Amino acid sequence: CGIIGVLGEHEVAPTLVEALKRLEYRGYDSAGIATINKDKLDRRRAVGKLVNLSDLLVHDPLPGKAGIGHTRWATHGAPNVANAHPHKSGPVAVVHNGIIENYLELRSELAAKGLANETDTDTETVAMLVNAYMQDGDDAVTAARKTIAQLDGAYALCFLFDGEDDLIVAARKGSPLAIGYGEGEMYVGSDAIALAPLTDRIAYLEEGDIAVITRQSVEIKDENGTLANREIRTVQLDN
Ligand code: GLU
Repeated sequence: CGIIGVLGEHEVAPTLVEALKRLEYRGYDSAGIATINKDKLDRRRAVGKLVNLSDLLVHDPLPGKAGIGHTRWATHGAPNVANAHPHKSGPVAVVHNGIIENYLELRSELAAKGLANETDTDTETVAMLVNAYMQDGDDAVTAARKTIAQLDGAYALCFLFDGEDDLIVAARKGSPLAIGYGEGEMYVGSDAIALAPLTDRIAYLEEGDIAVITRQSVEIKDENGTLANREIRTVQLDN
């Protein structure tokens, strides 16, 4: 229900949790974060209030300067830890707002290739499809693009990749997503409110956009794969 992504200069776990708190108003039943720590993708997830995730992180910290986070409002699959985002398959983690309408169809195609689902969510299928493309030799961005082209439904998506400490891929169709421009850092979030303490320089993705984000650059392509300029506005919000 709420998404945050940070490519930071410092440890991101506290920043991710703080941003998720600002998205609490949307409602949620579980929450989770994933980071790249020493090039390795890892995640922590908890059911219920964000304090449960914070408590988990106290006992089992998640280092790393690149990360994504999510508050979930379950649509497919019960609100339990296994179904909480980020979802992971092979080298990719994903957070998702919305619904993937054709996930059962995609799931059976992946099953035929020997990739079995481990959760009841529609979202896991997205991670599995990216994983399948990467197993076939595609790089992270190409695999994400090919996957997104196959999705029916409504989504805001954020991808993080094993071994990639300076890359987030984000996509929007039917669910809003904003890019935040920082100083040597870059952010993505469900709305400007989530990003307010981090930056006031915001660009909103448009329908069908895919953004390839690093700490120094944001490349946005529209639904036709054409480079797109999305205006960076200065948004004033009370903190
Ligand atoms: N459909 C996804 C799920 O049930 C995402 C729900 C959401 O937007 O939080 O896990």
